[in-house]
Amino acid sequence: MKSFKKVAIIGLGLIGGSLGQRIIKKIPDLKVIGIPRRSVTIRQAKEKKAIHYGTLDIKAGVRQADLIIIATPIDLIIPKFKQIVKELKKGAVVVDVASTKTNIVLEAEAMCPSGVFFVGGHPMAGLEKTGIEVADHKILEKATFVLTKTKNTSGKALNEMIHFVKKLGMKPLILKPAVHDFMVAAISHLPYLVAVSLAGTVEEMKEYRKQLGILMAGGFRDTTRVASSAPRWGKEVASTNREQIIEVLNLYQKKLQTIRRLIDHRKFREIERLFTAAKKYRDTLYK
Ligand code: NAP
Repeated sequence: MKSFKKVAIIGLGLIGGSLGQRIIKKIPDLKVIGIPRRSVTIRQAKEKKAIHYGTLDIKAGVRQADLIIIATPIDLIIPKFKQIVKELKKGAVVVDVASTKTNIVLEAEAMCPSGVFFVGGHPMAGLEKTGIEVADHKILEKATFVLTKTKNTSGKALNEMIHFVKKLGMKPLILKPAVHDFMVAAISHLPYLVAVSLAGTVEEMKEYRKQLGILMAGGFRDTTRVASSAPRWGKEVASTNREQIIEVLNLYQKKLQTIRRLIDHRKFREIERLFTAAKKYRDTLYK
């Protein structure tokens, strides 16, 4: 199997920068070209050993690359792909890292000229902070890296990506874009919405604001952590994964209504059973 020789990363924020660092650490033969939008980011990325060199000229930057990683905010993935698609060399593989996949994969595949291969990607790791400043290859350690497969996906390009992901010390998981989107609606987007609504609910209890701040302990901090994620990310996820999010919100609403009804009707034995089932499930995770 062919190994990539040159990788270009478009967008050097938390994910692009962390991937760059990880590539340099784990695959030292691979040259990493960084393509951010500001020259200061090139300097920062070099200092953080996330790239070998950088350029602001996106077209020149991708010409020699045999792997191109697009790591910009979700709504810029397709515009960036459009900008580079005619510049790519034969055999080039393009992967993105966006948190939602259906629309991006559909549009990118429709734009791919022959000899250029698009594979949708999503590293399942992150932070509630953004930017090259917080990039850190350790967040990707043993993390799952979703790669999408459709009827148009090149088997060869997918295999090259699987090989690449494994070399990074990450775990490839092959999913159809729609299946990915439904599952991340449940395990990523719903937790964000729960954290946001929880933080928002308490924030509105204005008369207790000061005392609440003193009272808060680990439970509130842990449960609301992802409410600090970039609002732009939240907006893009809501707009690109709307139907799947509505579906899981309906399921969640039903669960909340059950809990509310049991408390309201003093069905405390039943509610303990519900808590026990949730604890049992949660205790099997993150082992
Ligand atoms: P980020 O830290 O904000 O990085 C985004 C990068 O894109 C920054 O380098 C930013 O440049 C650049 N950018 C913004 N606007 C641009 C433009 N108009 N032209 C060129 N570059 C531009 O965000 P991130 O968290 O790495 O997210 C990037 C992607 O990863 C998103 O698609 C997101 O869905 C996905 N993702 C995020 C997470 C997570 O936990 N954060 C996890 C998995 C996947 P500046 O530095 O100049 O602002």
